[in-house]
Amino acid sequence: MYDYVIIGAGFAGSVLAERLANDGNKKVLLIDKRNHIGGNAYDFYDDAGILIHKYGPHIFHTNSPEIFKYLSDFTKWRSYEHRVLSAVDGQLLPMPINLDTVNRLYNLNLTSEELVTYFAEKAEDVDIINTSEDVIVSKIGRDLYEKFFRGYTRKQWDADPSELSAMVTSRIPVRTDRDDRYFSDSFQVMPLHGYTRMFENMLTHPNINIMLQTDYHDIKDAIVYKQLIFTGPIDEYFDYCYGKLPYRSLKFKHQTLDQPAMQSVAVVNYPNEQEYTRITEYKHLTGQVHAQTSITYEYPCWDGDPFYPVPKSENQELYRKYAALAKEIPDVHFAGRLGTYRYYNMDQVVAQALTLYKKLITNDSLIREAIAETLP
Ligand code: FAD
Ligand code: UDP
Repeated sequence: MYDYVIIGAGFAGSVLAERLANDGNKKVLLIDKRNHIGGNAYDFYDDAGILIHKYGPHIFHTNSPEIFKYLSDFTKWRSYEHRVLSAVDGQLLPMPINLDTVNRLYNLNLTSEELVTYFAEKAEDVDIINTSEDVIVSKIGRDLYEKFFRGYTRKQWDADPSELSAMVTSRIPVRTDRDDRYFSDSFQVMPLHGYTRMFENMLTHPNINIMLQTDYHDIKDAIVYKQLIFTGPIDEYFDYCYGKLPYRSLKFKHQTLDQPAMQSVAVVNYPNEQEYTRITEYKHLTGQVHAQTSITYEYPCWDGDPFYPVPKSENQELYRKYAALAKEIPDVHFAGRLGTYRYYNMDQVVAQALTLYKKLITNDSLIREAIAETLP
């Protein structure tokens, strides 16, 4: 019998499988309905031989030395600082908004100090920051909000920023200097040989068996286990008994072009006119040298794989009802972006999985001690 059956071979499931097998000496069966490991971070060489990300650009960034150190056991890294341009009013401008964005957009020549005053003059008074609109208009005013945030957010979420929790647009800083990096974290790196290779290194262990192209719901009555870890959508696990949690999806259009380069940075955002939200060119992320280049367009939609929990208060309330059900089944544990309905980055999912592992292993040793005490 397996000690643990884990559903989902993304970051959450793979970290838990690795820890349980390697550190906890548990027998693990890892199941995924897709034909590959790595979850949404899966990357592969396309027909042209270019390393691309099947589910859109994944850039690793964290402030946690512990998370960085943990993953470093399974990959070498390539230093990479992510830069994004946004197509606004016929120009490609730095995103997050910074000094150059404002000067170039409005044809100004402000200094950093003057930009602080400029933002203060444009900013709207908002008593309590509740929504994603509040976050931006209270910092930089309505015009920049309309040009850079409103259209993008409406496409991405099929909702106005005024309907979404503050945490969505709070992910994007506003800068008054010329720093044009997308992230400010202390560790900004890409796995040197890709995410999939890193996952392979995590999961190659005699205690781990992997079953791909297997949906949990098709085999749940056939498998025997002591504990189950579920990293798919929590509402699906409970047969949607309280109703469906919304997840936003994406359609990806992957293309290879017969030219060595297409855009000057890895990602260009299209907040307004286009149907897609962004175009990614992978060679910037991977440093691969190749005569051709591969790109991906992202089209947000509702149908398809569940990618984004939708941060609205009513969805959190519904999630809490499922989380309460989960508490009633102590041998089933939920983890990951879908299992805990949280808009988490990769490093946050790794942190959550490591915390769950510690809890499981502590409980396990407490139970063993208790049993040992009752033995004659
Ligand atoms: P997932 O990777 O979704 O893994 C869950 C797995 O469970 C899937 O493989 C799925 O097939 C499987 N599964 C579900 N249901 C079942 C079932 N019934 N039976 C069997 N298997 C099942 N994070 C960053 O830090 N940086 C980024 O740049 C970044 N970019 C992103 C870009 C996009 C377009 C998206 C969608 C996400 C991005 N993320 C990024 C977030 C990142 O993808 C997640 O934090 C991380 O991959 C979540 O890992 P997970 O294991 O929780 O979920
Ligand atoms: N966003 C925006 N304009 C941009 C970039 C981001 O309005 O040019 C908003 C949008 O609501 C988006 C959110 O900020 O969903 C978070 O952006 P991020 O790049 O972190 O999204 P992810 O990479 O998770 O899709």
